[in-house]
Order: sequence, then C-alpha cells, then structure tokens
Amino acid sequence: MLHCPIVKRLVVAVDGPSGAGKGTVARAVARALGYRHIDTGAMYRAVAWRALHTGVALDATSEMAAVAARAGFDLGDGVIAIDGHDVTSAIRTPDMDKAAALVARNAAVRDVLVARQRALGAEGGVVMEGRDIGTVVFPQAELKIYLDASQEERARRRAADPAHTSSRTSDVAHVAQDLAARDKSDSTRSVAPLAQAADAVYIDTTGVPVDDVVARVLALVHEKAGAA
Ligand code: C5P
Repeated sequence: MLHCPIVKRLVVAVDGPSGAGKGTVARAVARALGYRHIDTGAMYRAVAWRALHTGVALDATSEMAAVAARAGFDLGDGVIAIDGHDVTSAIRTPDMDKAAALVARNAAVRDVLVARQRALGAEGGVVMEGRDIGTVVFPQAELKIYLDASQEERARRRAADPAHTSSRTSDVAHVAQDLAARDKSDSTRSVAPLAQAADAVYIDTTGVPVDDVVARVLALVHEKAGAA
C-alpha cells in the first residue's frame, strides 16, 4: 500500500494595521502552500459598496446586516465581486476606506461576516487576513501572524500601491493622515478592535523585503504543520 504523508492544512491568521503588508504577504504565502487566500477587509469594503449602490444608509444597523447576510461573494484570486458586480478596484478608493471602517464598527454586520469567514476557513488550508482573525474569527488558528510596520513606511506603501489609485492617494502626507485616522478607528472601536492575539508572532516588516517576510511565515507554517 502506498504510504502518503498526511499534510495538515492549517488556518493561518494574518492581522495588522493598514499598509503593514498583509495582502502581499498573505497572497504569496497562500500561493506557495496551495492554500486559499481570504481578504476579509475586502468583504467589509464590498458590503459598504453594495449598500452605497442600493441606497442603504451605512449607519442603518439591521439593514446593513441584511446586506451582509444576502451578499453573494466571489473572492477569487485577485478578483472581488459582490452579487455579480466586480468591485476589485472600486472598493480601493479613499472614500471606500472610510465607508468600510464605518461598516466594520457595526456589530451586527460583524456577526454575519465573522460567521461567513469561519465557514470559509472551516476546512483549513487557508490564509485569512484582517484585523480580528487571530482574536475573534479563528482564535484556535494553528498559526497567527501580526504584521506591523512604521507609520511612515505604511503610508509610503499605500501611496505607491496601484490597487489604491486616485489623485489623492499619490500624496503621501494625505495618505498618512487617512491611515492614522483609520488605525484609530480600527483599534479603539468597541467590537473586535485591531489587536495582536497573545499567541501571535509579531513581525515588523519595516525595511524588510517582502520575500524575507514570506520566507519567515512559510518557515513558521512548516514548523507548525510538522508539529501537528
Ligand atoms: O484590510 P482593509 O484595509 O481592506 O480593511 C478595510 C476595513 O475593514 C478596515 O479599516 C477595518 O475597519 C475593517 N476590517 C475589520 N476586520 C477585518 C478586516 C477588515 O474590521 N477582519
């Protein structure tokens, strides 16, 4: 009989503030492992976009939760669609940054999206990025990473990110201001604030090449998978 090694497919949680490199690192780690990459921030952004385009007020608590519950998400490789609309670039504007952060403060929306995120990761083999993955969505994740970088570097990266194109986002000073406001909103809100899980590995990516960060995370995955 052939003896196949059992390769355990982990849940890898990647949290951290905006511009810390979560998207780039999570996508590369998922690709290297053949795991699914789930960008939970894109889910909050897409729900905000859908509400704005169907006339639902962003601060209407239960109506917003209904939008999140009804939403058909397509979270394919590099493409984000909601209810059949490709919103990949439409959700990456400064206005959508603010709209998503507002929607993310709504506990009813969070309940719906957290349940959907748990379902998406239930089988393992997933790299899920966000703000509360290691603390709320998958507190039992086998590997938790908390990515960080200096505020200056995060603003520089965000300003240079082609996914966040708009006249305003090429201005680093403005981007830094917006990032600081969003960090404050994300880390001081009462529900599921941005926080490092006690058992997360903290990685400061300031001045560190992406490949090195990815290699470090992959080494941690192999360590955990080997130990499992
Ligand atoms: O990661 P990204 O910047 O795309 O996330 C957009 C917004 O969604 C964040 O500002 C944050 O308020 C919210 N978010 C969240 N919980 C997550 C992912 C994102 O509250 N797991």
